[in-house]
Amino acid sequence: MRRVVDQVIVVGAGPVGLTCAALLARAGIPVLVLEATLERGRDLRASTWHPPTLDLLDELDLATPLVAAGLVTPTWQVRMHPSGERAVFDLAAIAGDTRHPYRLQCEQQVYCELLEARLAGMSRVTVWRGVEVTDVAQADDHATVTVRRSGGATEALPAAWVIGADGARSRVREAVGLQLEGSTYPETTILATTTFPFQAHLDGLSNVNYCWSAEGTFSLLRLPRLWRVSLYADEGESVEQAMQADSIEAKLQRIVPTGVPYEVLEARPYRIHQRIVANYRQGRVLLAGDAAHLNSPSGGMGMNGGLHDAFNLCGKLVRVWHGEPPALLDRYGRQRRPIAREQILAQAHQNRTRMQERDPAKRRETLRDLQATAADPARARDYLLRTSMITGLRQAAAIE
Ligand SMILES: Cc1cc2nc3c(=O)[nH]c(=O)nc-3n(C[C@H](O)[C@H](O)[C@H](O)COP(=O)(O)OP(=O)(O)OC[C@H]3O[C@@H](n4cnc5c(N)ncnc54)[C@H](O)[C@@H]3O)c2cc1C
Repeated sequence: MRRVVDQVIVVGAGPVGLTCAALLARAGIPVLVLEATLERGRDLRASTWHPPTLDLLDELDLATPLVAAGLVTPTWQVRMHPSGERAVFDLAAIAGDTRHPYRLQCEQQVYCELLEARLAGMSRVTVWRGVEVTDVAQADDHATVTVRRSGGATEALPAAWVIGADGARSRVREAVGLQLEGSTYPETTILATTTFPFQAHLDGLSNVNYCWSAEGTFSLLRLPRLWRVSLYADEGESVEQAMQADSIEAKLQRIVPTGVPYEVLEARPYRIHQRIVANYRQGRVLLAGDAAHLNSPSGGMGMNGGLHDAFNLCGKLVRVWHGEPPALLDRYGRQRRPIAREQILAQAHQNRTRMQERDPAKRRETLRDLQATAADPARARDYLLRTSMITGLRQAAAIE
């Protein structure tokens, strides 16, 4: 079909939108990125990068600077607290399957900043901040994106294709009549950051640790300058009470009793969802990242999955831009949606359910199982290929 508009509009300057912009611009396609906020958000979001995502980022020459800015994490573990019994997974088991046989611990903002700096030097990309998308309409040969600028003025912008990478509350998704179907988990995660050096106090800690304790569960994720601790309200405690400084302090003291107050830098509550759209494409509009699927952060897969969407989608959009039939874009959803539903959402659900288990006998059985898996090279490789999202990418590539 004849192209009447010579640009792709990407809605959202999060990790997924910016990655799409870089991939398209690199292929010579003019891209306009529309971002509602004037400045990058500082909420605590993704911190874990999986091996195949780093392999993909090599294509944009971004893996090396990202690795340099983060913590290389060769092992992760599931652990009983305070005994310290643990199942440790060593990603050396998948060294033959990836150029990056480790998880990387690095905040997603670092990636966005690297990427935005890279985009600033690319002639075909423009990023507009303070521009909120309010509607998307479609004709046969183009789409029209309506925006409201921070001053209140509205404008209609034409696009050959629109990528909705505008996150969980996606307006693009809503405008094309799609919903994020699924459910919200009952618990709220309270994410606290602290400079306390847990590694000096808990024997054999990895940089990524999922822990069971008598009171419930917590996780300890290390970043270059701090630790992130995921906490949950105790039984009978409301989220508001659990967010109070004294409650957070008491829970941190249960992890390592220091007798002196922890330095807590910030604490934020997060609801956790398990949701997905029925269709990743609606005409000239394509959804990617959190706009298309949401999962529990347990296992660190949401953003990674969104970046896998970006590479898959943009590879096809470049081919369509250069003359292949638009039906190729349906294959994007056919490849990515089942993997999101059956692997990413399912694995995240399994991780979350495992750590929410309270029955000591079941926990012990699970730990024994995980230890046996970690100790058997073939089983460990298979498990790590799945939890590192390599199996999902391979299965997606095989879908016609
Ligand atoms: C506590 C927590 C920990 C997590 N940890 C991990 C992890 O370790 N690993 C992992 O892979 N994932 C993790 N995730 C998930 C990860 O943060 C998300 O999957 C990721 O941010 C999704 O990226 P995105 O670009 O799709 O959306 P977002 O990052 O949400 O970006 C969307 C952008 O669109 C903009 N926008 C929204 N509406 C509009 C509009 N109408 N017009 C213009 N712009 C708009 C927003 O301002 C935003 O900048 C975690 C999430 C949470 C909450």
